Amino acid sequence: MARSLLITGIGELVTNAPGQRPAGFAALDRAALVIEDGLIAWIGPSAAVPAADASVDVAGRAVLPGFVDSHAHLVFAGDRSAEFAARMAGLPYQAGGIRSTVAATRAATDAQLRAGLRRLAAEMLGQGTTTFECKSGYGLTTEHEARSVALAAEVTAEVTYLGAHVVPAEFAERPGDYVDLVRGPMLDACAPHCRWADVFCEDGAFGADEARAVLTAAAGRGLSPRIHASQLGPGPGIRLAVELGAASADHCTFLTGDDVAALASSDTVATLLPGAEFSTRQPYPDARRLLDAGVTVALATDCNPGTSYTTSMPFCIALAVRDMRMTTQEAVWAATAGGARALRRPDAGYLAPGARADLVVLDAPSHAHLAYRPGVPLIHQVYQSGESVKIKLLCAVDSGK
Ligand SMILES: [Zn+2]
Repeated sequence: MARSLLITGIGELVTNAPGQRPAGFAALDRAALVIEDGLIAWIGPSAAVPAADASVDVAGRAVLPGFVDSHAHLVFAGDRSAEFAARMAGLPYQAGGIRSTVAATRAATDAQLRAGLRRLAAEMLGQGTTTFECKSGYGLTTEHEARSVALAAEVTAEVTYLGAHVVPAEFAERPGDYVDLVRGPMLDACAPHCRWADVFCEDGAFGADEARAVLTAAAGRGLSPRIHASQLGPGPGIRLAVELGAASADHCTFLTGDDVAALASSDTVATLLPGAEFSTRQPYPDARRLLDAGVTVALATDCNPGTSYTTSMPFCIALAVRDMRMTTQEAVWAATAGGARALRRPDAGYLAPGARADLVVLDAPSHAHLAYRPGVPLIHQVYQSGESVKIKLLCAVDSGK
């Protein structure tokens, strides 16, 4: 028989009640909830709670839906801290920097890649991320891309094929041949492990025609599209994402009026990745322009070793509030319900009876503290499908690699 858990004494319960999009942030004061069979079974006032098998009083702390990180590159080897330090000293970021991670990733053993991936996944969970996406893109051969997506599928259902991340050095003189590999044999090898396909559509990476060819081929194998678009300069990626019905256009740092209009008239989410602008000292995307136009906005980490080596959704929320002029409510919604929409996950990103019991208990009385107290470890407890996460244990598993 299923055991139920009552959480009472909630100072602020952020629910993101469905049907209130795009500004669907909703919160209850002095609330309680019941978890049963991994789902939310009941939500109501602390003054009128039902019976449960066990209970915990969170003493006025805020409770939020677990964060949904819809954009992360976690399968890699190597360290690019020297490149970061040089960039902070004045060198610009160029897309070719990916190639140094490709060399290290190809040279790594499966065990090394798996250990790094699990360490980052545990780091995410410890910071309240209960659903995350993971891309390939540092293998760039059929063998190494297939290995990357197979490893990613060990830790998440949201696996993205990113063979079209950058043209590897060995194809520099014949990029068309690389596109044919990505949309042909490499796709065939990767598709069984993936739900999504992505292309880095940018000068120095892949153009609109190449991106369309890859994503169309991937759709033929059942993979839904998402696009890295307009990170380094204006380009065709955002409008291509809308044209293809992509779940998300990611980065959106350089926006044209046509881009904003296209997003506003579509179901494509604009996923903003402020960790990348922070780590490359680029201007932040214009979140206000998107929100004011009615675009659905998500926040994600873009965790990767080159341009945003953070797994922290609270850090991204703080950046969005401080530097992108999102309200604390908009930023928390974008990091939870927004991410769920970017992954087309109707079961995540909100708290209501029937939703997955993925939630975060903050060591703070309100969601605003995530931006108000930047850099402070505010995650008191995390529940994933109703199970309490043993943060320290998870982080210890792979610390001795
Ligand atoms: Zn990315």
